[in-house]
Amino acid sequence: MNVPTIDIESVDIDAPMFEPSAFRLSDKQAEWCETARKLGKAKFAPRAPEYDREARFPTENYKDLYEAGLLALCVPERFGGGGAGYQSYALTAAEVGRYCGATALTWNMHVCSTLWSGPLADDLEMSPEDREAHERRRAIHYKRIVEDGAIYAQPFSEGGAAAAGGVAFSTEAVPVEGGWIVRGKKIFASLSGNANYYGVLCTETEPDGKKSRRNTLYLAVDANAKGVSVVGDWDPLGMRGTVSRTLLFDDVFVAEDEALMPRGLYFNAAANWPHMFMTLSPTYMGQAQAAYDFTVAYLRGEVPGMPPVKRRMYPTKQIAVAEMRIKLEQAKALWFQAITEARPNPSKDQVLRAWAAQYTVMEFANDIAQLAIRTCGGQSMLKSLPLERIYRDTRCGSLMLPWTAELCVDRIGKGALYEPGETDDE
Ligand SMILES: Cc1cc2nc3c(=O)[nH]c(=O)nc-3n(C[C@H](O)[C@H](O)[C@H](O)COP(=O)(O)OP(=O)(O)OC[C@H]3O[C@@H](n4cnc5c(N)ncnc54)[C@H](O)[C@@H]3O)c2cc1C
Repeated sequence: MNVPTIDIESVDIDAPMFEPSAFRLSDKQAEWCETARKLGKAKFAPRAPEYDREARFPTENYKDLYEAGLLALCVPERFGGGGAGYQSYALTAAEVGRYCGATALTWNMHVCSTLWSGPLADDLEMSPEDREAHERRRAIHYKRIVEDGAIYAQPFSEGGAAAAGGVAFSTEAVPVEGGWIVRGKKIFASLSGNANYYGVLCTETEPDGKKSRRNTLYLAVDANAKGVSVVGDWDPLGMRGTVSRTLLFDDVFVAEDEALMPRGLYFNAAANWPHMFMTLSPTYMGQAQAAYDFTVAYLRGEVPGMPPVKRRMYPTKQIAVAEMRIKLEQAKALWFQAITEARPNPSKDQVLRAWAAQYTVMEFANDIAQLAIRTCGGQSMLKSLPLERIYRDTRCGSLMLPWTAELCVDRIGKGALYEPGETDDE
């Protein structure tokens, strides 16, 4: 019997996730995605197992992201950055997520400090005085990133209802001469001990001590400032390289110029630019693609370093791959639409779609990863291959506030059945 030889080049598992001409990407978008893919394939994928095993922050990857201009991707061009908007960021981040989930997820926290203070803030109403002050202040942050490769984290979770958007953040900023005194605690602070600045969401206290969500401030706290400490261990199921330990702020002085957004702007953004909370999804979109790509290569006997054994001829495997592909296409199509219509004051339909996209990506990524392991079989769950890491990492997506899978379901159901202001009270 003639055994056909395997053409290793026949399936490109590093092909663009969103083929530029099919998805009408701009040349710049295609270029950013290609940069991410090349870095991912050459550098991030080989390093990922070690970061995962040691639960260590991907410092080396951050040097590469800086050198490739990706730390400043969303810094507006006039400040020396890439000038990428929301959709461009999401597409690029998905490509990073294919190779190292922890890098993509932490890079999201960093990029949000520039995306929210940059293109998002530009879309929102501000007084001329606030706009002028914001322009001057963000120049300080962007210079640190563009010139020095500074890394910004984004700790907002506190373990209470604030991260879901229900109540004011407990972490407080007490106004003092020239700035604020910040005190409080943040849990799950990705990049803890590794970022240069923590972009902390906190509540500016009123003179009577009352706390309101309207008074949320977004302040950059220097990681080396007096009173900042990182505590607790970090030995989780997945996303281990994010190093999301607990941060304590013990009467930390933060100067006025460290505000990443003017007073009131975060509250305004949360209400009027809701897609700002969907930026965790690209990481998991990329991981869903990676789980599928690996499965195809594995069943074809084309995984480098593995014996070239084919398993694709079994109908059950073909059905499982079809199921994975259908889920992947569904997630990609819905997600692409949602990131494309991210804008200020979206329609109700667009917001429902964004929640549905977030839910779909977070849940399907893990569904696809578990189907991948079942379909590839025992060898695929060995730590020498990426699938078991993707399986563990993707389990985390649905848990991330403020748009956890559960909260998305709650909001879609309520939003679909009620118009604003409607109740069932007699
Ligand atoms: C790998 C990883 C990295 C992270 N990095 C960061 C980071 O950098 N910065 C950051 O701020 N946070 C980060 N988080 C935290 C994350 O966003 C959540 O805040 C955290 O997982 C919530 O913890 P919890 O599930 O114990 O919260 P809980 O508040 O106890 O919520 C438990 C669950 O209850 C549900 N729930 C909560 N509130 C409501 C409500 N009002 N109505 C209905 N259901 C509700 C949600 O589905 C939630 O999943 C990270 C988390 C992970 C897993």
